[in-house]
Amino acid sequence: MSDTASPFSTTSPRDGSTLSPVRATEPSDLPAIVGAAHRAQELWAARPLEARFEALRAFKGRVLDRGTELATLISLETGKPEVEALLAEVLATADVVDAWCKHIGPWLEDEPVALDATSYPKKEAWIARVPRGVVAVIMPWNYPLALPLRTIVPSLLAGNAVVFKPSEVTPRVGAFIGECFQGLLPDGLFAVVQGGRDVGAALVADRIDLVAFTGSVAAGRKVAASCAERFVPCSLELGGKDAAIVRADADLDRAAAGIAWGAFTNAGQNCAAIERVYVHESVAAPFLEKLIATVKSLTARDDMGSLTTEAQLAVVQRHFDEAVQKGAEVLTGGSAEGLYFAPTVLRITDERCSAVEEETFGPLLPVMTVASDDEAIARANACRFGLTGSIWTRDEAAAERMASKLRTGVVTINNHSFTGAIPLLPWTGIGETGTGVTNSHHALDLLTRPRTILVDRNSAPRELWWMPYGTALAPIARALLTLKRPGSSIGEKLRAVLALLTHLPKRWRGLPLPKN
Ligand code: NAD
Repeated sequence: MSDTASPFSTTSPRDGSTLSPVRATEPSDLPAIVGAAHRAQELWAARPLEARFEALRAFKGRVLDRGTELATLISLETGKPEVEALLAEVLATADVVDAWCKHIGPWLEDEPVALDATSYPKKEAWIARVPRGVVAVIMPWNYPLALPLRTIVPSLLAGNAVVFKPSEVTPRVGAFIGECFQGLLPDGLFAVVQGGRDVGAALVADRIDLVAFTGSVAAGRKVAASCAERFVPCSLELGGKDAAIVRADADLDRAAAGIAWGAFTNAGQNCAAIERVYVHESVAAPFLEKLIATVKSLTARDDMGSLTTEAQLAVVQRHFDEAVQKGAEVLTGGSAEGLYFAPTVLRITDERCSAVEEETFGPLLPVMTVASDDEAIARANACRFGLTGSIWTRDEAAAERMASKLRTGVVTINNHSFTGAIPLLPWTGIGETGTGVTNSHHALDLLTRPRTILVDRNSAPRELWWMPYGTALAPIARALLTLKRPGSSIGEKLRAVLALLTHLPKRWRGLPLPKN
């Protein structure tokens, strides 16, 4: 590590206090770090699963023992309230470790495959799940503990090494994760590398077997292009622009409270934050009244926290100004004090504005009215992103019909976005949200690769299809074709069976076949 030009902020967004200095990793150090990870991975993958569980459970114990210290650090680096850090990040870690240790065993087991004994006599096959090798985990700053661990924990349990690059905005939480692993894993198996996009890009370009990337669309494109050059698989969890649909029959008290949380938790800096509401016109007035009352009851610092960076504040301000300039009515909020941007609800008339079309990643909530379920679905789907969406209603059957039409990876009915914290449910999206799948056994399709193993116990001198083919194999092949072809007549099929009965036993015994 060296003290070269620092990409790291040294001022807390929460209170302006000074944060400890961080040293960046030299890109030229990466080959040695990745090389050590490769060596350690071989040892680690050979260890029994129980030993891997033990290490991860010890890690969990350390995180929980230092839970309040960690929540404070997360709050200082991101500006989110400590209670939110404790609930959504620290406690979520315990669930991630527990769930993966409980379920991963059967998911990693070999999968036997029944082969047709006539076509493949005396052969046994199965599919093994093989660790990828070294996984580069590159993460954003908005959930600096919970997000990386959703991938790091199953990656390690599946037998991989991990080189983790935290965001340059939250390097201290990244270092904390590294500290909690100290001494629990083979040397080099888990490494934290610090730096900005240059270090991220250099890591992606190194001898990596899989890149698990979460972040912006722009960076995701670059990561995908770099991986494609070398056929390295990559998972991309990118942006979102989630919609909440409020039907006429919704429980409006619950919808208002849930949508306020879904829009403003972590100051809206959540890939699955509600950034669009489509409310049925018949209940728009009472819904907005309840929503505004809820939002007005929120206190900056206690409930919502600050934006994390000046850059994010600038985006929010730009989206807000443009919406207002295009006629949006500010129903509440709209003011900023330092990095604290008040939770803001906008009634939108002209939807061709960034607040409706782009990811804001901040506490702006545009509300629009719709006349029907179909209109709500069509407008929710008219979006480049497709992470999650929610439907607020008392009619479950209608909601399920609507859910099947939403172009998103996750749909919640009468709730929003929290399923990202449930390790058994896949977190995924479509469109510019990217191709990633985090959580659940589906994530193992990425963190491992399938290996086919076949054992042949056939003692015959040759297989049907082995050389020398001679001319004798042809009548067998033709007979098989006749038998498989749906249009063959009974007579043709009988002649084909006769040909097989004549030629096959001789072929398997390795006897010369009669010439045609
Ligand atoms: P970002 O893309 O700027 O940075 C993310 C990470 O990528 C950082 O560690 C950064 O240093 C690194 N990086 C940047 N350029 C890189 C490159 N060319 N090669 C390799 N690494 C590079 O994103 P951010 O501002 O930290 O995070 C906000 C974005 O993340 C939002 O768009 C948000 O929606 C998205 N996000 C998505 C999910 C999800 O699950 N889909 C979750 C959280 C955040």
